[in-house]
Amino acid sequence: MATQQQQPPPLPLAGRTAIVTGASRGIGRAIAVHLSSLGADLVINYASNAASAESLASTLPRGAVTVRADVSIASDVKALFDRAEEAFGGRPAHVLVNCAGILDTKYPSVADTAEEDWDRTFAVNAKGAFLCCREAAARLARGGGGRIVAVTTSVVGSRRPGYGAYAASKAAVETMVGVMAKELKGTGITANCVAPGPIATDMFFDGKTEEVVESVVAESPMGRLGEVGDVAPVVGFLAMDGGGWINGQVIRVNGGYV
Ligand code: NAP
Repeated sequence: MATQQQQPPPLPLAGRTAIVTGASRGIGRAIAVHLSSLGADLVINYASNAASAESLASTLPRGAVTVRADVSIASDVKALFDRAEEAFGGRPAHVLVNCAGILDTKYPSVADTAEEDWDRTFAVNAKGAFLCCREAAARLARGGGGRIVAVTTSVVGSRRPGYGAYAASKAAVETMVGVMAKELKGTGITANCVAPGPIATDMFFDGKTEEVVESVVAESPMGRLGEVGDVAPVVGFLAMDGGGWINGQVIRVNGGYV
């Protein structure tokens, strides 16, 4: 008698497209890898680091395309979503994770913040999130599984000196996303923020002395910096059906730092 082949259960995000901005490096890259492991087809956005985005795409086990787009430019964001639909049979994407972000690594006080640095921070972090979320609100799949996740920061809570423009730009996003969660009533799309604490990436280490890094570690109840792998599964949970009742929230992922 022939033995029946047992089919493994389908992966939770199988047949769904996830767009991850700022996925060439750091936290965004880890989120892309994690969503792919959950079965999603990936749209890997980057701004300048094409080689890194391409090498990521080549290692993912299922569909992945790379798209260069500056999230602070509306036409780039529209083209990113166009490409996401074209690449995977014309179906709308289910998940947007907006992870692209910048930090002024001179860590100026508000009194010492240059106007152009304030404007650039808001252009990428706040306007970029707005443009991506606006496009997602219009275009993500309806009827279940639609997810918007904006990566913000626990600095909104800790209010550390030197982070004025950065924290303010992310606070704006947290407020906007909370409003969107209500505006998206009836679509089945949830909108949440994931707000990491200090995570060991280029962004964290840039402009910090070893002494400053050590002081951050010493402040952490866990006695270490966060890793990108501490953040990605939280985004993965929000993206899956099991995370569907979490809506309009800011989830701080910081090991108890804030
Ligand atoms: P990272 O290593 O510096 O990576 C930043 C990513 O954003 C890169 O993929 C970069 O693309 C992309 N990016 C920058 N400007 C962009 C633009 N205009 N359009 C599209 N993509 C752009 O930073 P990270 O530490 O992974 O941070 C990722 C997110 O987490 C950011 O939003 C950050 O604010 C937030 N966050 C980080 C920490 C931390 O401690 N690391 C803590 C809290 C929150 P290219 O490489 O192609 O230029």
